[in-house]
Amino acid sequence: MENTDTGRWDHTVDLLVVGSGAGAMTAALAGHDAGASTLLIEKSDRYGGSSAMSGGGFWVPNNHLMAGVGIDDDPDDAWTYLRETTAGNVSEDRLRAYLEKAPEMARYLHEQTRAEFVALPEYADYYQRVPGSRPGGRALEPKNFDAGLLGDEFLKMREQNPQMLIMKRIFMTVYEARTMLCRTPGWIGITMRLMAKYWLDIPWRFKSPRDRNLAMGNALIGMLRRSLMDRNIPLWLNTPARELIVEGDRVAGVAAEREGRAIRIEARKGVVLAAGGFEGNQVMREKYLPNPTRVEWSCANKHNTGDAISMAQKLGAGVDLMSDAWWGPTTVVPGEDHARMLVIEKSLPGSILVNKAGERFVNEAAPYIDVVNTMHAKDSPEKPCVPAYLVFDSSFRKKYPCGPILQASQHDWALPRALKGYFKRADTLEGLAARLDIDAKGLAESVRKFNEYARTGEDLDFHRGETVFDRYYGDEKVAPNPCLAPIEKPPFYGLEAYPGELGTKGGLKTDASARVLKESGEVIAGLYAIGNCSASVMGHSYPGAGSTLGPANTFGYIAARHAMGV
Ligand SMILES: Cc1cc2nc3c(=O)[nH]c(=O)nc-3n(C[C@H](O)[C@H](O)[C@H](O)COP(=O)(O)OP(=O)(O)OC[C@H]3O[C@@H](n4cnc5c(N)ncnc54)[C@H](O)[C@@H]3O)c2cc1C
Repeated sequence: MENTDTGRWDHTVDLLVVGSGAGAMTAALAGHDAGASTLLIEKSDRYGGSSAMSGGGFWVPNNHLMAGVGIDDDPDDAWTYLRETTAGNVSEDRLRAYLEKAPEMARYLHEQTRAEFVALPEYADYYQRVPGSRPGGRALEPKNFDAGLLGDEFLKMREQNPQMLIMKRIFMTVYEARTMLCRTPGWIGITMRLMAKYWLDIPWRFKSPRDRNLAMGNALIGMLRRSLMDRNIPLWLNTPARELIVEGDRVAGVAAEREGRAIRIEARKGVVLAAGGFEGNQVMREKYLPNPTRVEWSCANKHNTGDAISMAQKLGAGVDLMSDAWWGPTTVVPGEDHARMLVIEKSLPGSILVNKAGERFVNEAAPYIDVVNTMHAKDSPEKPCVPAYLVFDSSFRKKYPCGPILQASQHDWALPRALKGYFKRADTLEGLAARLDIDAKGLAESVRKFNEYARTGEDLDFHRGETVFDRYYGDEKVAPNPCLAPIEKPPFYGLEAYPGELGTKGGLKTDASARVLKESGEVIAGLYAIGNCSASVMGHSYPGAGSTLGPANTFGYIAARHAMGV
């Protein structure tokens, strides 16, 4: 570790947090409440990062809200499940720290800040066959939050990824989204209520096209931002951290740029790096992730360019899991800045994913991370899986939304010009194969078999729809298997699906207190890393909905309190 001390500081605080996602804000709040003077610095002109764009859910086994929705949990079960899903890739002390502190963090946010959550009783852990799993309750989601409570500060919040909005502007909770997209009972009422609430909010319509009734990631960040405001904790926008400053044997602060001017910020108790992964950095993607890979395939905040990882590596910090990400098959929509993940479309009955040979290669309803892991594993020159192709027929098109396109209400002829070429469409499967440039015979055979499985209800090849997790995004009105329906009614449709992600998950090695470690395992004093700039406590796995925000918030909480000695 080099000593770069040059003397004068422009600003001094106890705890400096680099980044402004949910984990960063949780760290700042916990640090402040433990007695620290605290500052957050954010590189871009918006706060919130990918956290604001997200579903806002976080996975907390044994959380204090589960009992209220009728689901019990047990620390031993949670331990068995997490240890099994992380498959020996994460140290036991970090896993234990997560399981012990995540419920404490959730309770702290719920009771000491503006944050309010509900437990989702039907959002199952992703690996239902692993002992210790739960059919729901461990995933928490933020309640709606009134953007009016933020005043003009709301307009500086990063916008939600459009896939989380109705018509790119109206918010919905995870529960509402599932009800509407999977058309479970009550979906029409919910759609009408949300639309009416938006359009009848006349005063707010004069202020902003953005919905006041925040949900998902925007609600989470809104609650946390308001809690920072309650405490007068400053958050500086347009202030990228450039370098870590070392004094003696510890990190003493950060060299940053504030609105174009170089500044040095002293952090007496510690620096918490919370600057996201490297999803927005094409060079790092090609260096670390499986190739081919493109920034455009990512759903995440483009300002996350691996800065924190690079800064800490200069001090000898070790990294882990760098080839991994929070994968999911994504679609790139013309005219949109971020990709959308095909979460629901791939599970609803009547769509399949095929490779260039026209063959299915995966259980499409499996956790999105596994779909892309299989895409990578089975990708070969003979049978390329990158990109894959989502194929469906007109019955699916009429019933369900796909990417930016709504079901029946948005006919093909009424699509905006920018979306006209988004779907490939043909009257026969053979014609569709030609338009997608994939093998026609392979596709015909895949569809024939899939249609047979749809009739019997049993997918003999990939077992789609066999677990509660698969069926969460199925259509419960479809029998015998809510994830299977025949693809038979022309016209047929197809679109490319890429190995995209919600963010990268490899990063700095940390210990159970979120302190950054050198490759040797030695602690770099004064330096913490949380969220996607740290190697994930979930290893290569994705145990349940909210497996990225849960750890970001938890290790933010842990880091700040450790720095303050509580
Ligand atoms: C559409 C979508 C849906 C998702 N849904 C969920 C979900 O429901 N549950 C879940 O757990 N996860 C979800 N995720 C993933 C989750 O949002 C991210 O993994 C998580 O927000 C990462 O948090 P972070 O703090 O590491 O990064 P971020 O929240 O992105 O925050 C990092 C911040 O640091 C800033 N920054 C970067 N470099 C610097 C620098 N040099 N100096 C200062 N600031 C810097 C960035 O601009 C950014 O604002 C979703 C993601 C997306 C895109």
